[in-house]
Parts: sequence; C-alpha cells; structure tokens
Amino acid sequence: MDNEAFRNALQALADAQYARDAAPEVRRANAFGALFVGTDLDVDFYLSIAGTVLRETESGVETISDLARTLPILAWASRQFPELVPFLPARQSGDADCPGCMSRGTIHHVTCPTCSGLGCCSARARC
Ligand SMILES: [Zn+2]
Repeated sequence: MDNEAFRNALQALADAQYARDAAPEVRRANAFGALFVGTDLDVDFYLSIAGTVLRETESGVETISDLARTLPILAWASRQFPELVPFLPARQSGDADCPGCMSRGTIHHVTCPTCSGLGCCSARARC
C-alpha cells in the first residue's frame, strides 16, 4: 500500500466530512485527526490519518493498529467512501469466495466476520 497516497486520501475524506457534517462524532474525528467511520453497539470507530483505528467508548479511546482488527474497519469505511477501495488488500488468484457472506463482504449490512469484509478468503483474511 502506498502510505502517502492512503494518508492523502484519508485526509481529503476527513476534511470533506468535517466540512459537510456537524455531527458530534465528526467534530471528534477532526480533533483526533481522523475520519469518522460509524457507530456499532455504542462504540464509535474512526480511521486516523496515520492508518490506525480509534475505538471510542464511554471509557475512552483505544488505538488499534494490528491488521486483523483494522481491516474490517477499513472495509467498512470503503463501503461508505469508495475512494478507499484501492487501499484494501487486492484479491489474489487462488483466493476463494467467502462462504460466510457469499462474497458480499457484509451480512445484513454488518462487516462479515469471516472475511473481514473483503468478500474472499485467504490466509490474510483468516477464513
Ligand atoms: Zn465474508
């Protein structure tokens, strides 16, 4: 992945989100230097410009940097912001369609836990 291109794309998306959306989560995203991705079970998720995931609960903010936990959030973000799709791991020849989500990447609009939202299975996606 081209980290500079990723950071630039993320910064542009975060700036545009901040300009058009006054939601409290978007205001906090700006303070974090991040893009607000969404809320799941009262947990707010952000993608930081540095490429980490910020997970905010009532208890505070946790920074997540391991690929296994950041990939589903990047996949979730890319469904809302297609500009991020090029930064998802590319499907490799030999990867199999995900049986958990029928290769859609989501199950009832939730990121597929089997393939992390990629729609295919490989050692990378831990299927
Ligand atoms: Zn799946």
